[in-house]
Amino acid sequence: PTETPASTNGKKQPPVILCIGMAGSGKTTFMQRINAHLHAKKTPPYVVNLDPAVGNLPFTANIDVRDTVNYKEVMKQYNLGPNGGILTSLNLFTTKFDQVLDLIAKRADSVSHILVDTPGQIEIFTWSASGSIITDTLASTYPTVIAYIIDTPRTTAPATFMSNMLYACSILYKTKLPFILVFNKTDVVSHEFAVEWMTDFEKFQEALSHDTTYMSSLMNSMSLVLDEFYSHLKVVGVSAVTGNGVEDFFAAVDEAAVEYER
Ligand code: GDP
Ligand code: MG
Repeated sequence: PTETPASTNGKKQPPVILCIGMAGSGKTTFMQRINAHLHAKKTPPYVVNLDPAVGNLPFTANIDVRDTVNYKEVMKQYNLGPNGGILTSLNLFTTKFDQVLDLIAKRADSVSHILVDTPGQIEIFTWSASGSIITDTLASTYPTVIAYIIDTPRTTAPATFMSNMLYACSILYKTKLPFILVFNKTDVVSHEFAVEWMTDFEKFQEALSHDTTYMSSLMNSMSLVLDEFYSHLKVVGVSAVTGNGVEDFFAAVDEAAVEYER
């Protein structure tokens, strides 16, 4: 039998959950929630923080980029603004990522999942060489799943919804990894509207036609592209604050990890 990248020495590797999403979508709060959930089940994860600029981390990380680089010092030293400072810090950290992999490998047998939080601003991770290197390196060793976190209350306008979906779509095609859309903050707004728009094309078209920012023909064509995208992903609604939907999320991770191994 051929050895898949996800199973070295016949051992089953823990899945990586890579949390990606727009600033403020709730990545860090979601990390805190799923970390607490796994600890409560006595199946603790391995936790990695890749956000150099997070002030207060609400969970304990096994590996924290902030222990290696101080982004404010990096800003001063290289005369950069905040985003440049964060990106450069991530680049400096990535040069040592082989050491990170060694540390993870030592614990891979005894953890249920590997949870990874990414910088607040999405493009710092998704459109940087460092982000690609980290993603590809993890995915070559562990079954890796993208958890794309969405701020549900802020995506109820059809045009905003479509922009967010197109962004998610671009990440899917860039990474080619199993993808879970995590509609967060369902304690504020239910994600039912999103599920309806994703399953009933005409409902979305109708909603679009009432949107003031509607640009008819372009929007129509793009929503057709999304129809194809939707067939490649899993959708869950969660509240990182209340914990609602977390079981559904882990069920989706299990399914995605199986898909990855195929
Ligand atoms: P990040 O930038 O993606 O890491 O987002 P954070 O986790 O820092 O969260 C941004 C804001 O959204 C914070 O004020 C959180 O308290 C809030 N937030 C995150 N998840 C939820 C949720 O499920 N429900 C509600 N109501 N607020 C949330
Ligand atoms: Mg964060």
